[in-house]
Amino acid sequence: MSDSMKEVVETLDPVSRHLIPPDIALGTLVPLKTILELRDNLCLGLAYVTRAPNKVTNDVVNIARALAGDDAAKNLPHLRRCVKPADIPPHLKTQFMNEGNGRQVHLGKSNWLYIVLGPENEMSYDELVKGLSTIDDIRDDIFVRTIPVPLLAPTSQVQANMWSQQFWQTVYRKNNPLGPHPSTISRTEAVMSRDASIWMNLAHQVAKKSQRAGYGEPIGAVIVKRTIPGKIDSGKQPAPKEGTGESEVSNGEGTGPEGDNCNSQARAAGEVKGTTRDATGGPNGVISDAKQSDVSSLEAPAQDSTKPDSEAQETTEIVAIAADARWHQMERTGLTGNPMAHAALRAISMVAQKLVRAEDRPKSTQKVMDFEAFQDKPLLSDEQLVFDGDHPCPDGYLCHELELYMTHEPCTMCAMAILHSRMGRIVFRHRMPLTGGMSSEDRGYDACAASGTCGGGSCGGGQGLGLHWRKELNWTLLGWEWESDSIEKLTVDPHLHA
Ligand SMILES: [Zn+2]
Repeated sequence: MSDSMKEVVETLDPVSRHLIPPDIALGTLVPLKTILELRDNLCLGLAYVTRAPNKVTNDVVNIARALAGDDAAKNLPHLRRCVKPADIPPHLKTQFMNEGNGRQVHLGKSNWLYIVLGPENEMSYDELVKGLSTIDDIRDDIFVRTIPVPLLAPTSQVQANMWSQQFWQTVYRKNNPLGPHPSTISRTEAVMSRDASIWMNLAHQVAKKSQRAGYGEPIGAVIVKRTIPGKIDSGKQPAPKEGTGESEVSNGEGTGPEGDNCNSQARAAGEVKGTTRDATGGPNGVISDAKQSDVSSLEAPAQDSTKPDSEAQETTEIVAIAADARWHQMERTGLTGNPMAHAALRAISMVAQKLVRAEDRPKSTQKVMDFEAFQDKPLLSDEQLVFDGDHPCPDGYLCHELELYMTHEPCTMCAMAILHSRMGRIVFRHRMPLTGGMSSEDRGYDACAASGTCGGGSCGGGQGLGLHWRKELNWTLLGWEWESDSIEKLTVDPHLHA
């Protein structure tokens, strides 16, 4: 066990310390991609461009802004507003320099700039020409063209560079309109990676114990509560944070006319500050910044993250452990067993039972059903030990801000239950491309060929039903895969719903 791991173990409560395996196999966290990131996110539209001498670009920009309105998105904030003739993409250069007074504009000493005005469908061509004709220097040769441009902000510097070549100079602002903010992910990951392997090893251990006992498939789940000193506790919305770490990054080539009169107006009007926040909101602003700050509430205050805390220590406690128990009191035919006894559902239910226990309600002794469909009472001694402990903070909603570690990607049913429980973070090891409900993209077309359980791979792959960050669901859960070569694989049939 590494020194940093030992440090973490020393902070654990006696029950956790008793449960974890003596040797911890290490693994690494890999963030899950969101469904929007996996879709073709190159959403193109047409935008008007014009050209004008340096000294009147401000007037031009004002006309464009008046037509597009104040809606930042309509002003295409990820595109550089003004670009020198030498810095427009080569194919546009070839085209534009042969039109109108192009030769003169593209002369080495020219002080003309190309200006992107806004999306074609947001402004009327006639109004635009009318507006531009009020400017003396361009009145005689009004140049308005449409070019294809990406309508959404790029999600990486590489993508920004590519678009700068293909469409128009593009600015990457180090945020991600298609998922959680990259800095939220990296900070959360830095905290979790210290002990994620411990909880994953524990999930593996309980999975194997359940399989050996004949209760279920080798699938396990561990739910953990992390307490960070100085952090507002769960259930309470932390104050929204300003867009930390969001800074404009130039695409590294031809700096453009920064500092001249072209950009002063547009940028002073809040492009740098305002639009980064807007862009974070996704195409329809559904994933709002406020929700992102909710997600990022795991992060310790700045001073804690920079120095290893010596006084107040971060602590983690196990809230529930559960293995798959689909075969408990069930006849072993097919793959399904009892779907209510999936590991994630059992674990969440155990958390719920702890909350109910904390409320100290009078006990109901009435047995509702002959068959215990839910199988949410502990079956293994490890499950019982954790179950007997109190919930560390019984005030919050079900699994709000808790962390779930699973050996396998949960099925769509469990993924939805995890979402409803308001789990804060999920880590799983084995992908289930045919049946999984988390990883958005993987349909695993060849996953079943080897198993032979569906007539030689005739099922045609999974449904691609991953829920991770589907914006329709106001998704705020952060997700990782845990990759490890040093712990035994828990192989299950690829058609099985974990
Ligand atoms: Zn499930």
